[in-house]
Amino acid sequence: MIIDQQKIDEAVSTIVGYGGQNILNCIQCGACSSVCPGIKAGFPLLCRNLIRHLLNGELEEIIEDSSSWGCQACNRCTEICPRDVRPQEVVFAFRRYQANELAFSTSSVTSQMNLYETGHAVFTDPSALRKQVGLPETTPTSAYDDKAKEEIQTLINNGPMGELGLF
Ligand code: SF4
Ligand code: SF4
Repeated sequence: MIIDQQKIDEAVSTIVGYGGQNILNCIQCGACSSVCPGIKAGFPLLCRNLIRHLLNGELEEIIEDSSSWGCQACNRCTEICPRDVRPQEVVFAFRRYQANELAFSTSSVTSQMNLYETGHAVFTDPSALRKQVGLPETTPTSAYDDKAKEEIQTLINNGPMGELGLF
């Protein structure tokens, strides 16, 4: 693989400029990923994985990924990191980069579309795991209840969010 040093330098300096000052301290130990609720909820591009892409200069390749909006801002990653990288700050720096670079960020719209379509701002399909542990595949929530979804959509369409013209 050819290392594009200029691309890497630009990516690192962009993220540092947006607040991820300690990104170069990362040794990719994975401690942050092991305690991240965002990753466990199905948003893979947080903590070590996100930092690896950034340190490889792959800003453009991941710009549309919505994982940064799955960060719970719990700071568990910051507490456990042995190198003072402050991964949450890196996630937020990447989110700022996404919001700044994209005229209308598709990644930021994901949670709003989820809310409209399922009644949950953060939604990942639980059916496989539910089946694995012997539970019915569908959950008793608005995501699988057409009447509830219709009511939620009526509320959104007629409330302040409806004025955004997203739905
Ligand atoms: S950010 Fe810290 S905890 Fe996470 S992989 Fe890098 S050094 Fe390890
Ligand atoms: S602050 Fe965000 S990135 Fe860090 S552990 Fe919590 S959810 Fe994961």
